[in-house]
Amino acid sequence: MYRIINSKYIWCPKNGILKDYSILIKSNKIHKIDHYKNLNKLKYKKINLKNSILMPGLINSHIHLELNWVKKKLNYSSDFTDWLSQIIDLKKGFDKNQLIKESVKEAIRECSKCGVTTIGEIGSYNGLDISTIKKSGLRCSYFYEIANSNSLSFEKNILKIRKKISNNKLINLKVFPHSIYSLDTNIWKRCKKFSIKNNVGICTHLSESREEIKFIKGKKNKFDNMIFNKLGNPPKVKRKSTFTPLKYLEDLGIINNNLTLVHMNNLSKQDKNIIKKNQLRVVLCPRSNLFLNEKLPDLKFFLDYHSTGLGTDGLSSNKDLNFVNEMNFLYLNSKKLNVKNLKEKILSISTIGGAKCLGLDKKLGSIEENKIADLIAFEIKDQNPIDSIIFREGKNIKLKIIDGKIIKFQ
Ligand SMILES: [Zn+2]
Repeated sequence: MYRIINSKYIWCPKNGILKDYSILIKSNKIHKIDHYKNLNKLKYKKINLKNSILMPGLINSHIHLELNWVKKKLNYSSDFTDWLSQIIDLKKGFDKNQLIKESVKEAIRECSKCGVTTIGEIGSYNGLDISTIKKSGLRCSYFYEIANSNSLSFEKNILKIRKKISNNKLINLKVFPHSIYSLDTNIWKRCKKFSIKNNVGICTHLSESREEIKFIKGKKNKFDNMIFNKLGNPPKVKRKSTFTPLKYLEDLGIINNNLTLVHMNNLSKQDKNIIKKNQLRVVLCPRSNLFLNEKLPDLKFFLDYHSTGLGTDGLSSNKDLNFVNEMNFLYLNSKKLNVKNLKEKILSISTIGGAKCLGLDKKLGSIEENKIADLIAFEIKDQNPIDSIIFREGKNIKLKIIDGKIIKFQ
């Protein structure tokens, strides 16, 4: 089926902003991009967006849909380890199934209403969230979370889930070892083996807190002195004074082009060189970092880097799950850095950058012929059309298409 979309502006991002162009969609793909006069000669069904800007769908590259329920029970904490300690206690005593399913529904509703078409979901409960994600029609890179507590037969469990979703083209599966401080070094080695054998990407939280840096160097830290007291079996982690979290993964042989790192807000100069040399993919969650009383990532470095994505993280460490608000926050905190074409860079991070982080960039994340039609449009309400994307909280959304199918049109 063919369909023409007419919009005053189109942001690609390869060709920047096009004015008075149109897109021809064939089934679920972008078939042609051309001047509206040329395409509108064709007798196909038309969507006329008028005073709007059409762009690739937003990609929230890191989210925990299941953690909405935590928000209501959390005491706003002073630092990362105090927060983590509360999460561990909260997760211990509750009837999870119903609460988690409601959380997932609520989170999807909030996350998708501002223009998100793809999420990088971290699932901690053995696929409990998958049926709700399927119903939502969102595209999803599904990261199966592994910690010491559920590591016994994670390989088998992941393969079972993979079988279950094999007929769903919107969901793809990856592994998510939670962090360097919640897994034995040996389990990290199993994750690596599994990833290579099954050709699935690995993603993890890394360099998120100052305590994590102390921990991996073998210095006095709050994981050993506080968090691990709560666990029956503290993780057995190889540590060295010369390690940074990233150096530890390098030592394990985990560094490859199938690796995505989340947070990375406490980096050494050497870490940045490892990132550049290995072209690692990095997802920033800046509002979560501030929520946990940690510093922001090196924004100048990551705005100029080619494989940066953006995520809201879970509602357990953020004020809301509105991805446009995350973009806005990134913009406001980067303004003083004198980055060239800052607004467009933020759009790129939120679309094609996210697609790179989730390993989907060959298929989607930009408006190009033959790419999948995951598209959104915002009504223009400002002098600069890009301002109508970054500054309007997603409330002016006019159209959402996922896999060629219209999800929302007003
Ligand atoms: Zn997270």
